[in-house]
Amino acid sequence: SPLSIKNETTKDFTKKSVDWDFLKEAILTLTDAGPIEIPIVINGNQFFANGKDGRKTLSQVNPANHRQVLANVTQSNEKDVSDAIEAAKVSKAKWMNMPFADRSAIFLKAADLITTKYRYKMLAATMLGQGKNVFQAEIDCITELVDFFRFNVKYAEQLYQQQPLETSPGVWNRAEYRPLEGFVYAVTPFNFTAIAGNLVGAPALMGNTVVWKPSASAALSNYLLLTILEEAGLPKGVVNFVPGDPNLVTDVVLKDELFSALHFTGSTDVFKSLYSKISNNVSNDVYRDFPRIVGETGGKNFHLIHKSANLKHAVASAVRGAFEFQGQKCSALSRLYVPKSIWDDFKQEMVDILNEISPANCSAAEGLHSFMGPVIHEPSFQKLAKAIEDAKSDPELEIVYGGKYNNSKGFFIQPTIIKATNPNHDFLQKEFFGPILSVYIYEDADFSSMFAKIDKTTKYGLTGSVFANDREIIRQTEEALRYSAGNFYINDKCTGAVVGQQWFGGARMSGTNDKAGSGNILNRFVSIRNIKENF
Ligand code: GLU
Repeated sequence: SPLSIKNETTKDFTKKSVDWDFLKEAILTLTDAGPIEIPIVINGNQFFANGKDGRKTLSQVNPANHRQVLANVTQSNEKDVSDAIEAAKVSKAKWMNMPFADRSAIFLKAADLITTKYRYKMLAATMLGQGKNVFQAEIDCITELVDFFRFNVKYAEQLYQQQPLETSPGVWNRAEYRPLEGFVYAVTPFNFTAIAGNLVGAPALMGNTVVWKPSASAALSNYLLLTILEEAGLPKGVVNFVPGDPNLVTDVVLKDELFSALHFTGSTDVFKSLYSKISNNVSNDVYRDFPRIVGETGGKNFHLIHKSANLKHAVASAVRGAFEFQGQKCSALSRLYVPKSIWDDFKQEMVDILNEISPANCSAAEGLHSFMGPVIHEPSFQKLAKAIEDAKSDPELEIVYGGKYNNSKGFFIQPTIIKATNPNHDFLQKEFFGPILSVYIYEDADFSSMFAKIDKTTKYGLTGSVFANDREIIRQTEEALRYSAGNFYINDKCTGAVVGQQWFGGARMSGTNDKAGSGNILNRFVSIRNIKENF
């Protein structure tokens, strides 16, 4: 019978509940443990830097308190990466021949372990390591992560049941959903533990083995996730964990003949460079397959406000879309188009809300509930601080709110709103990946001319929203902006896609739009064999 799956609900940490106490304890335990040594894991074996093998470590610090080193992450050398590839190859046959129900059971059990035994540990690792408050962490490393694991099982089950092939007497036609012939390379981001889980978990569920390069800034939560999968029964060698220098790891992986797929979330620039390296290698006959390239990259996501919109709702949505998760979402709102007649009220409402919100130390017990936390690391902090300074000296830009930043303790950037007078300004085109929102104020009568501006100003096509009560306006916008967003929202913020409810991904320079949280993505990690049998 088909699996009945529901989205996991988030726990309410607003009350001084028992969960609250458990979480505080988990945070203290992790903090007291001192730097945790994170190994490379190849074929189930752990390897650490021991001074003799040329391996170094890289520290993962708490972005809210950068003097606090949370982990020393072992960096893979070339041989480690080759060994990981070898392990992925060797363990493949046993894994792909394991019945689907048994592979599924491992992911379903891991999901249950995450929501029960490891919930607080997982939250603590994601909060401290990736600078999240408790709500951000719950949504990420608990609900979305387990939703991915469970919904993938349901979608895979549906996929395997599809047998649309005609048969006739004496003939049986069948489709066999083979995993890809080689191995899958998962390159995972810092911003969501859940995404890392899905980039690794989706191909693995379909019978593939994986070489996983985690983000150095998420090693703590990502390694914990690996150990949970192991506890749930994942056989050795199915997922091989190779933290390390991205170029070093990638170069070894991409020259292997049996590299069959890239599953990536990260920046557009890195994805472009991987894409072109892969295509060069295809031209040079390096690979047995045409590798599958699945990527989710950047965005310059918009809210288009029509004068018929509900103002309070549109304002709250803009604040949440732009500043929740410190703006460190591919889907985050980063350009806002507001009609002139309502701008003053819109601005005032935003300022009133923002005055209540200040980035605080989300890793300290008292800061657990702060709306915003730090950005991930020094380079990101510097990039955002520079953008703010550039804005201050640009005659076409005006800082409407915010503009402060401070890295004395953690990487804190004030939520910042910048008004641009030129609709083609860089600030309405470039992704900053942080809490900077650019606004363009248009003449009310020019509403429909905003379509072309929104569509043509950027190279991206990830998410976007229209806020309006006028049905005809909604319809026109939906039609005019068909290719401007892979996730289009009507009267809702452009963030927060829920697995199984809003399939996530965009086209253009935002990625291959294979839709995380849908069955579609699973198709990318299978290579069907058609079998005809005569009786
Ligand atoms: N799925 C998330 C959302 O809809 C964003 C994921 C990302 O940042 O890559 O907000």
